[in-house]
Order: sequence, then C-alpha cells, then structure tokens
Amino acid sequence: MTRPSESETLDRPIARSPEVADEIKTTTCYMCACRCGVRVHLKDGRIRYIDGNPAHPVNRGVICGKGAAGIMKQESPAKLAKPLLRTGPRGSNEFREIEWDEALALAADWLGEVRRTDPKRLAFFTGRDQSQALTGWWAEQFGTPNYAAHGGFCSVNMAAAGLYTIGGSFWEFGEADFERTKLFVMFGVAEDHGSNPIKLGLAKLKANGARFVSVNPVRTGYSAIADQWIGLRPGTDGLFIGALIGELLRADRVDFDFLARYTNAPWLVIDAPGTAEHGLFARDADGRPLLWDGQRNEAVDAHVAGSSPRLAGAVVLADGRRARPAFELLAERFLGPEYLPEAAATACGIAPEVIRSLAAEMARVAFEETITLDVPWTDWAGRRHDKMVGRPVSFHAMRGISAHSNGFHTCRTLHVLQMLLGAIDCPGGFRYKPPFPKPVPPPPRPGGRLGEVRAGEKLAGGPPLGFVQGPADLLVDADGTPLRIDKAYSWEAPIAAHGLMHHVIRNAWAADPYPIEVLFLFMANMSWNSAMNIGETLKMLTDRDPVSGDYKIPKIIYADAFASEMVAYADLVLPDTTYLERHDSISLLDRPISDPDGPADSIRRPVMPLDRDVRPFQTVLLDLGVRLGLPGLVKEDGSAVYPGGFPDYMVNHQRRPGIGMLAGWRGPEGDQHGVGAPNPKQLDAYIANGCFWHQKFPESARFFKHANRDYLEIAARMGYIASPDPVIMQIYSEPMQRLAAQGFGPVQPPDSERARIQRFFDPLPIWYAPLEGEALAGQDFPMAAITQRPMIMYHAWDSQNAWQRQILGENRLYLARSTADRLGIAEDDWIWVESHAGRIKGQVRLMEGCNPDTLWTWNAIGKRAGAWGLDPAAPEARRGVLLNHLISDLLPDGRRGNCDPVTGQAAWYDLKVRIRKCDAGEEAMSAPQYPDLKPLPHAKPRPGILSYGAWFRRRRENA
Ligand code: SF4
Repeated sequence: MTRPSESETLDRPIARSPEVADEIKTTTCYMCACRCGVRVHLKDGRIRYIDGNPAHPVNRGVICGKGAAGIMKQESPAKLAKPLLRTGPRGSNEFREIEWDEALALAADWLGEVRRTDPKRLAFFTGRDQSQALTGWWAEQFGTPNYAAHGGFCSVNMAAAGLYTIGGSFWEFGEADFERTKLFVMFGVAEDHGSNPIKLGLAKLKANGARFVSVNPVRTGYSAIADQWIGLRPGTDGLFIGALIGELLRADRVDFDFLARYTNAPWLVIDAPGTAEHGLFARDADGRPLLWDGQRNEAVDAHVAGSSPRLAGAVVLADGRRARPAFELLAERFLGPEYLPEAAATACGIAPEVIRSLAAEMARVAFEETITLDVPWTDWAGRRHDKMVGRPVSFHAMRGISAHSNGFHTCRTLHVLQMLLGAIDCPGGFRYKPPFPKPVPPPPRPGGRLGEVRAGEKLAGGPPLGFVQGPADLLVDADGTPLRIDKAYSWEAPIAAHGLMHHVIRNAWAADPYPIEVLFLFMANMSWNSAMNIGETLKMLTDRDPVSGDYKIPKIIYADAFASEMVAYADLVLPDTTYLERHDSISLLDRPISDPDGPADSIRRPVMPLDRDVRPFQTVLLDLGVRLGLPGLVKEDGSAVYPGGFPDYMVNHQRRPGIGMLAGWRGPEGDQHGVGAPNPKQLDAYIANGCFWHQKFPESARFFKHANRDYLEIAARMGYIASPDPVIMQIYSEPMQRLAAQGFGPVQPPDSERARIQRFFDPLPIWYAPLEGEALAGQDFPMAAITQRPMIMYHAWDSQNAWQRQILGENRLYLARSTADRLGIAEDDWIWVESHAGRIKGQVRLMEGCNPDTLWTWNAIGKRAGAWGLDPAAPEARRGVLLNHLISDLLPDGRRGNCDPVTGQAAWYDLKVRIRKCDAGEEAMSAPQYPDLKPLPHAKPRPGILSYGAWFRRRRENA
C-alpha cells in the first residue's frame, strides 16, 4: 500500500475530536454482579460505547472489560425474540412461535390450576438474577413454599455462617476497610464476585504499602498481585483458619475487651451433659442470657452494660447448675491437638511455619499497629468514646471456601477469627455495609410450616426464605418428612437460608417428597452449566411415566433473554429483555450496593428500544400475578394494582408503610430518604442523579455499627432493624446445639437423621474433611478438581459474547508442572479426568501457581453445540470443558445430597478425580459431546464474523 505524502495528509481535513455520541444515558451494569454505574454513549440511537460513571459510588468511573463488552450482549445472535411453545419432544429444541397473549394465558392456566388446588405443586426457582425482592414476594402471594434463588448453589454457606455469627458477611454485606487496612487476607475469591470494587480496593492497599495474602489453591486473578500466596488443598481452609486461631490463643494474642463487649464470649453455657439444657445458655427468669460478673462474683444479665464479664472458669449458678463461659469452650476446642500447626499443615498441604508466621503477623498488625481516628462516638449504652480505635487486619472470602460440604463451619471459623482479633467494623478491619449488621440470626423465620400452604391462598407464616432458630422452625411434617420440594429447612438441610435449587429437578422427577406440576425457572441454566451431573439431569428432565407417557416433571416454564441450553428443555419459553432494555431495582430489600459509610441503591432503565417481541421478566411476573388474582397485585375489582408493570411496582409498592423498593427521593415532594410515601417522580429523580441514590452517615455512625448508638438509631429509623438494640456477635451459636438429635425437645428428627445432626451441628465451629473425599477414601481419586472464574467473564452469559470469547473461547485443564512431570503429561496433551460420577476429556496447560494435588479450569466456558447462537463447531463446544459432567448431585452412596449438611449448599469444590493421558490417536476434541441443538424457529443465520462498528463507519463515510 502506498503511504500518502505529507502534503496529501496535510491537505486532508482531519477530525481531531469527532463527535462520537449524541446522547449519554446512565444506568447500572449487569455484566457481572458488582452493579457498577455506567454511561451508555449512543449515536443515532445505537450504542457507541459504554464507560464507567465517575460519580457512581461502586466504581467511581472504572469500567472493566466485561462492562465495556455489554455492547456485544446487546448484539448477541442468541437473543430470544418471541414466546415459544414446544412442539417436539423435550430437548429437541422444536418450538412454534406464539403471541404473548397465548403465552401468558397458557402460563396462567397452568399456574391457576395449581394455585386453586395445592400451591406447593409450583416450584419457582430463579438463577443469578437481582430481583429476589420481587420474586420472593410473588411466591409468597402465590402461596408456594417452593421458591428460592440461586444462593443455595452459590455461596449460602458464606451468607448463612455470617448471619448466624456476626450479623453480616462479605460482599453485599460488608468489605475490608481498604483505605486503612494493613494486612488483607483473601480466601478463595472468584473475580466476578467482587470485580471493580475489589480491584479499586487492592489498588488502594497496594498504594498504601499494606500486605496482601491470598489463600487459594490456584494463583490466578487477584492472587497474581498478592505479596504471599498460600496454595492450600481445596476444602482445608477451615482447618487452616482453626490453626491460626489456636496459635493466637496459645500466644494470648486475643482482643479480650472486644469479645467481652460485643460478642457472646462471656455468656454462660450450661454444663449438664445428658440433660435437655446441656449446651444452652443459662438465662434469667425473663429468658435473658447470663454472664459471670467477676467483681460481684455472681451471674448477671448479659445485656446490661457495666458488668465485669469473666471469660474463663467454671461457675456454679444460684440454682446449683454448673456453667462455663462460651469463650472457654471455644478456647478448649481450638487448643486441641488437631489444630496444632504441624497437624493442620499436613492436611492443608503447606508448611507449619506458614501458619505460625501468618498468625504472628496478624497479631502484630492487630495489636501493635492499631489505627486511631479522632472521631468521638457513643455506644449503645450511652458510653462516650473519644476515639475510634481499629485493628487493621481484614479479610475477604467467597465461594472458594463456601462451596464445600464443610463450608458453613469454615465460614463461621473465619468470622470467629475476626472476632478474636477485634477486627470487625473498626478502622482498618472488616466493615458492615447497611442494612447490615442484622440481629444474629436475623428475622424472619421461613414460611410454609405445616398448615401454612393452603389452596388459593397466600403463603401463611411469611416469605418462603428465612432463618431457622430451632427445630420448631423447620419445614417438616410430624414424622420429619420435608415440606419443600428441595428439602430446604428439613433435617437434611436445616439452615438452608437460600434454598437448594440444585436438588429441585431430582426431587421433582422422583416425586420426593411429593410430585409437582409446574417447574418455573428464570435465568437458571439447569440443563447445562448450573446442573450437577448434566447427563443425569437431562434424563430426569425428559423422563416419562411408563404408564401415562407424560413427563415426570409435567410442565416447565422458562424465562431467559438468551437461547441457553435450558431453553431446549422448556415447554413454554417467556423471552426476557437484555439489561439495557428494561427497568430493574438494585434494592436495599434485596442485594444493595451500599458502602460502609452509607446506604445506596440504584436502578436500571431502558437505554435501548426493544427491537423484538420480548418483555421484561419482572413485568411478565406481575402480569401473571394479575391474571391469577394474587393478593397485593389486584384490587377488589380485579384490576391491576401496578398497571404500569415493574417501573410502577418499583415506585409504588410498599413492603411496610413508607418502605419500598427504592430508598431515595421518597415522599410526595421527593425530599425524604429511606422512609416515606411513594413519590410518582422517583424514577426521574434517580435518572437525574445518574440512576443511583447514596447517602453518607455522619462520621460518628460509620464504625462499630453493631454497638454504635448513632448508627443503631438511624438503622431502626430506616427499617434495617426493628429496634436500636446492639447486635451481639455469636462465637457460640445456640441454634446449632443439637439437643433434638439426642432425643430432647418436642420436634424430633427421624432416626435416619439423628447421627448426622449430632455430627455436623455444633455451637462452635468444627472442621471435617469434605464428604465426597471421605466417602471415596481408599479409592483411586487422588486429586481435587475445582473451577475458577475468569476476570473477563461472568457465568455462562459471557462465553457467548463475541468480544469476551476472543479472550477466552476454550478452556484448558490446568495442572501444576511438577504434577504433570510426575504423571508424564506435557503441555497441550489431551487427558481424561474421571470422577465417581463421570469423565471428561480436555487439553492440558501447565503452570507453577497451582496446588500440586489440584486440577482446575475456568468455569462455564464449555457450551453444548448449537446453543447460545454459536456455530456448532465453536471452540466452546468442541474444545471447551465443564467439570459439571463429573460432579454428582449425590454423594457416592447415591442417597445423600452432595452438599453441606448444615445449609444444603452445593459442594461444587469437593470434587475428587483421577487423570490419565489420552491414548495416541484419540480425537483432539473435548468430551462428552451431546447431539447438536437445532436452531430455534426465529434464529437468524449466524454471521461468520459478528462485526461491530461497521454501521458507524459507513454512516460517517456517507455523511
Ligand atoms: S465490574 Fe461488573 S458491574 Fe462493574 S463494570 Fe465490570 S462487569 Fe460491570
């Protein structure tokens, strides 16, 4: 090509600052779960580019690669375009397009028959959506207890353990004080579960010279910039943390003052083995817990300020009963031999010195490098403090430590470590984000107890999800049979705070504990990357009754925006919009975007017009509610309470008087925040403010929220908590005392569950080896297998996104180089990976930063050929792999769920495998391969290259 001469270049007008957009609309990103504020730059009605909103509290202008690639989500050939009714057998992908009237009438007909007869025959489960404040409320109005979102197979162990221990947790519940922390320890974090906010935080702590320690079997993502990487064996985090606690206790490096003031460490625990009160708190006549006042030498009300609590030593109460402070029991446990560094290190696959030195460092930073803010504050008892003193050690953790069968106790152990260091909601430590902290455990209790599910009525007893405080709250019948289809809140998973979505299909197929009529799923790819053991799941979705010939799961309604693998298994498909085409509310009633200094929420609003016959799922759900005549959705005359669909609901629905989906600009004049009557102009106010609302607490209310009078009064006023009482953290969890398993109390487990409850319920954290490995002991499955999430993708939605696919279009199986050498495996070799449940074939990549007993791969890259609008020969289908084919929803005994026995959380990361090199001549293609899915009726021919931007160039050139 001939270059233009200098004179030619100079003669040609150069547009030095071309106008790239004629309109900029703010909204909230949905390319991952962080909910950053974005600006969508539009030119001639099309998206030119997306960048971060500099004013937004979550990302302060930062955009990540995923967020910028939202354009290609909008351009995706996989977008559904019209309601679909199945015409061929399930799985054939044979549908006919139908009109919305027909689709909604049919759905209302199916659902109406269920509600009129027995509402629990509807199982309504949603995936990684952000509408749980609506969907949970809708299920309650429908009257079914069989509702949950995706938390049960994500990180419910993290959430439940936090809420049963400190009244909060990580991520939406709280975060490290990145501004001030001096030692930050991160456990098993996937980058999508804290993307821009964590990146900003890490940048800050690096700039401040703080130390960053990453504990993760694999050194990817954030671990790459860690000052220290501790590559534990998967599933041993709880033992590692317990050993740190043991070291702190042995060295007497514990914040006793924090424990005495803010936790139940001094509460007296009755010591009366073999009786109905053993292990419960000693209480006064009003039921208030007691502690031993060392100065008065008597038991006193633990809730009254000014006592001198004793943390150790057996005491005899006035009535002759013996009791010991909870702290002494805790110390006894973690000073045990199994938590000695030598013992723990062997199981964790690290050197004992790693434990000793990290414990010593934590103690040094917490107790010798304290941070003092000259900010006076007043505690709940009215005591004035002239400073805020903080212990600058902080933590963050997510699915890595929670998606194990021992995850609940592991997460609780981590929170106990935080308490021992006194590093909760203090400068430099972990900080709660409002509306947290909540009372421990929080209200409400789950609705749907015996007699609370009634034909044609709203669910009595409250919303379907809640927090069990004892056997009386379980959803079981008189003989212990579960009342929910997923068996949540039964003796099999008593503290199932988020439900057990991963058990729904098997239980519905097996009619265990009862058959259902309609399975209604939203955005949950349960036939592929959200399924445990895909092959089995597909059989259950397509299995028919041998006598009637009907499907064993009679009706499946599925709502999604894209042609995922699950669409093929639905009977009726309700197409959703993209996140750029609808309203959403990121609500304080759900999963808000608050930061530790104050509450925040936000909205999405349509920035692009619809170009196909799809509807926002939330509006569809409200429409169905009207057709079904659900309470709260229809007036007495049968007309809709929210005729304007979801935007109308966002503004006008009140959960309690004055409290609705959005906290900003309430009241008739729009000048009230938090609580106030609906404001018809509320959405305009959000849009004028960049689609978010954020309020900062006064400085005196920003730390020690669990005990800070200013904060507690604000929180009670805003409706976060019922009263301004302090939140008392629970090192000893009374609801976990398993007296029922020992035969005490009116609600008894079936004999088949007794030993299990006795083993896995304990008021103090315990550690046990992950259950799949225990069951396979002695068999040849020597390695662990886990997934990691790539920074550039979020779940399966992104592995169909043209830009993100260019970075990661296929996934390798990663091994430590030393392990590969030992097994005679080289870079790029193809290998078979086998578990007790199945086998997969994939290609190897070697690395240094991997625990030698661990194989890992990127999550949710592998696709079924023909799905997601991709070419059947796409690398995701032919070279991509999923560990899901290896993971069973059942333990190897085939009877118990492969999950945490406390919460029911799916134990994705307990997987044990063996590997072998493929034989020479085996095809270089991933396995298993399922038959290609046919294109959907409306599918346009796939472009060979999905180009973007040519339209703008052509328009420019033609201008
Ligand atoms: S971090 Fe997540 S929410 Fe934020 S811009 Fe990236 S994809 Fe969007």
